[in-house]
Amino acid sequence: MTRVYNFSAGPSMLPLEVLEKAQAELTNYAGSGMAVMELSHRSKWFTEIIETAESVLRKLMNIPDNYKVLFLQGGASQQFAMVPMNLFSGSKKADFVNTGSWSKKAIKEAKKYGEVRVIASSEDKNFSYIPTVTADMIDPEADFVHITTNNTIEGTVFEQIPDTGNVPLVADMSSNILSTEIDVSKFGIIYAGAQKNVGPAGLTLVIIREDLIGKADDSVPTMLDYKTHADSESLYNTPPTFAIYMAKLVFEWLESLGGIKAMESINREKAAILYDYLDQSAMFSSPIAKEARSLMNIPFVSPSEELDALFVKEAKAKGLETLKGHRSVGGMRASIYNAMPVEGVKALVAFMQEFEQTHSAEGK
Ligand code: PMP
Repeated sequence: MTRVYNFSAGPSMLPLEVLEKAQAELTNYAGSGMAVMELSHRSKWFTEIIETAESVLRKLMNIPDNYKVLFLQGGASQQFAMVPMNLFSGSKKADFVNTGSWSKKAIKEAKKYGEVRVIASSEDKNFSYIPTVTADMIDPEADFVHITTNNTIEGTVFEQIPDTGNVPLVADMSSNILSTEIDVSKFGIIYAGAQKNVGPAGLTLVIIREDLIGKADDSVPTMLDYKTHADSESLYNTPPTFAIYMAKLVFEWLESLGGIKAMESINREKAAILYDYLDQSAMFSSPIAKEARSLMNIPFVSPSEELDALFVKEAKAKGLETLKGHRSVGGMRASIYNAMPVEGVKALVAFMQEFEQTHSAEGK
């Protein structure tokens, strides 16, 4: 069985080099005679794995010293609760920007713990753009402001990070962490489920400014208090050891490519190949405003649901996997995270051209 180009939104492709390294080390990690999955999380081998994962990530993202890196579980969805549980310590008010399905879920969860105000939304146009957020829109009393930097389902991205003044900015970066250079110091908290650009599912990354740790009320469960994990270097209980090991390999792979700057230029190249094709195609089109187009998740449509279904089926037969759009929006979606090679995007566009030619009579 040869490998396919997997356009899944997550879990998604991992770099082949990473998978092969993990395979080579699977049954005997670093001469330990054990698999990483079998190592004690307190062993010297695992200690080195988690410490290296953190130090390489710090270097890649240029994370300032006054930020902690936490390796947690529960997915980004658990952060929808952990963020308000930990940060609602002052006015118990928060400002949210509603840019799609995942923002909505974060908003719904935060409402359980405090007063939530939606200061900007793109729901009026099917979340096909990013609304403008300016400093004067933000309540200076708010405990935090929340944005979803990349909207996985809708295919939009914040090209500019809003200035929130002294109010901590919290970002769900699940689907674009490590894809472009960002200034971590603009954020209070960055969180991301691992299963797109970091590694396998089961690991959640949290990068948190130190002054935001230790604010949780006593009623917050120990496991949901950032302080628990910050004080114990993410080893309060058994962490997802294998997922952390895989993340370490992915971070090292990124480093070997030349870091995020190099990755960003490849990502821009890949996205341009697909958007350029979409913009001139007589059959396929992108529903997303040009200035808000994601580099990671690219939804597109044909003129009919029948053609959409046929396209997805024929693409699959060509080794172009999981191109069906999210059930809430339909059409197609190509998720082209860091691990998707340029050749994968070229193969997709070549197939789209072929499909367009064959079915042009049914075109738009
Ligand atoms: N936020 C965003 C932007 C996502 O794309 C996802 C998952 N696709 C989630 C949150 C939920 O993540 P998890 O499944 O890790 O809880």
